[in-house]
Amino acid sequence: MLVDYHIHTKLCKHANGEPEDYVLEAIKKGFQEIGFADHIPMPPDYDPENRMTISEFPEYIYMIDDVKKNFPEINIKFGVEADYFPKYLDYVKKICNENTFDYVLGSIHFLDSWGIDNEKYIDEFKKRDINEVYSEYFKTIKEMAETKLFDVIAHFDVIKKFGYKPKDGYIDIAIDALESIKKNDICLEVNTSGLRKEAREIYPNNEILIKAHELDIPIVLGSDSHNPSEVGWHFEETIEELKNIGFKKLCRFSNRERFFSLLV
Ligand SMILES: [Zn+2]
Ligand SMILES: [Zn+2]
Repeated sequence: MLVDYHIHTKLCKHANGEPEDYVLEAIKKGFQEIGFADHIPMPPDYDPENRMTISEFPEYIYMIDDVKKNFPEINIKFGVEADYFPKYLDYVKKICNENTFDYVLGSIHFLDSWGIDNEKYIDEFKKRDINEVYSEYFKTIKEMAETKLFDVIAHFDVIKKFGYKPKDGYIDIAIDALESIKKNDICLEVNTSGLRKEAREIYPNNEILIKAHELDIPIVLGSDSHNPSEVGWHFEETIEELKNIGFKKLCRFSNRERFFSLLV
């Protein structure tokens, strides 16, 4: 089954097009199911230029309901991309508990005040020790997994987005986080948006995916579309790679319950 679980809306202020444009693109590309997972509202001092406000949240619900009604020929899921930021964990928890999401993606976009995947802060990578940055990032991923608040860990190694990577790889730095995802029974997102960035590879990389398969961690597929044309971005080759590694199933969600489909 062809599924894309990471699609944004213009409410986040850095995506283009109407929800129906994404849906039409998905139908055109042969998808049977897609999920919107826009950036969750946060307190006003947290990255307000990249997300809807809390007062806009009802509009998000309405927009997704509307495409669900208008396009019965495709399954449309209602998800959210929720930030893990320790200080605001209760705020996020409340939104997740008060709404009937099909699934919640968990993401790290900030380490303290550093927006790690924001071009505005790219110079930080030149100022810091890259191994230490990766250690801190994956330590935070582990913490996120341990909260059990999220159904899926999104873009697991997004810290590589701008192409800054430890010379000798980072599987040893990431392994604790990966094992924690397994232990806490969380899914891992295979996110193809890294192919559009300086990282030039999907999130997570091949080495981590091989390990995730060994650990029998379930996966979901997402394009992180911020533009209708990005729906299903490079899914064909990515699915081939996943099959080569040995993955046979894909996770899907309804009302935050997980089930499996064949990866085809
Ligand atoms: Zn975004
Ligand atoms: Zn994200």
